[in-house]
Amino acid sequence: MSFKNLNLINPIIRAVTETGYSKPTEIQHSAIPHILMRRDILGCAPSGSGKTAAFAMPVLQLLKKNTTEHKEIRTLILTSTSDRVLQIEEDIKVYSKYLPLSLLSIIDGASTGSQLAALRKRVDILISSPEKLLDLVSQRHIDLSKIEILILDETDKMLDLGFVSDLKAILALTPKKKQTLFFSAVMENHIRKFAEGILKNPVEITVSPKQSIDQANEQPVYFGEKKTDLTNDTIQDLSILSTPKQNKTFQYIN
Ligand code: AMP
Repeated sequence: MSFKNLNLINPIIRAVTETGYSKPTEIQHSAIPHILMRRDILGCAPSGSGKTAAFAMPVLQLLKKNTTEHKEIRTLILTSTSDRVLQIEEDIKVYSKYLPLSLLSIIDGASTGSQLAALRKRVDILISSPEKLLDLVSQRHIDLSKIEILILDETDKMLDLGFVSDLKAILALTPKKKQTLFFSAVMENHIRKFAEGILKNPVEITVSPKQSIDQANEQPVYFGEKKTDLTNDTIQDLSILSTPKQNKTFQYIN
């Protein structure tokens, strides 16, 4: 299975290939076709499974379809912490480098003035924790009424951090008709119940925590005389390869 089989467009395939991804991970090849068909997703996938790219690549493609001028925020990604906000931003910048899409992160420590200035421009994708987003919403600086795609990333962590009422308040500000992609590392009863109240006829995808990225990219072996022969990218790949190889289980329920 290659990225081409997933019907991804060339600017995205080129960007991920240049990043060193040779083929999709399990969560990517399971989720991407459904997301492109605008289905809601209930994804149980741990960090390390490639879930950021699993939602980011198809969402970028859907947004690219309609790149006419607009002032509204089209996609909202909610996640647990500012660190994770920055990590998602970094990944999406890489995947979208050949696409004319704009991205804004709301993080701790950024000046409200600079965030407001950025919000006055076009924002295709907004990434935030629920708490930070509600701060700006309460100052009437953010309109979520035109959101087309909502992504809940690390929902288990957001619920553990006590964001349930913040999440509900944000959901109430988004349109009823939207695509929702719900990801959690675990799917305990209370998380599933929360998801059921939000999702419409979702495709459910579960990737075992035992599955690691090395199953997507097993082939590279690097040789070098000294450590400086390795670029940062190859060092990153080596750290992936050094993850112990583990068995995976995968179930897919439509
Ligand atoms: P995530 O589960 O989204 O936190 O991703 C974990 C790591 O896997 C990140 O460093 C990604 O850059 C990397 N990654 C994502 N998709 C792939 C892929 N198809 N092949 C190799 N590495 C990937």
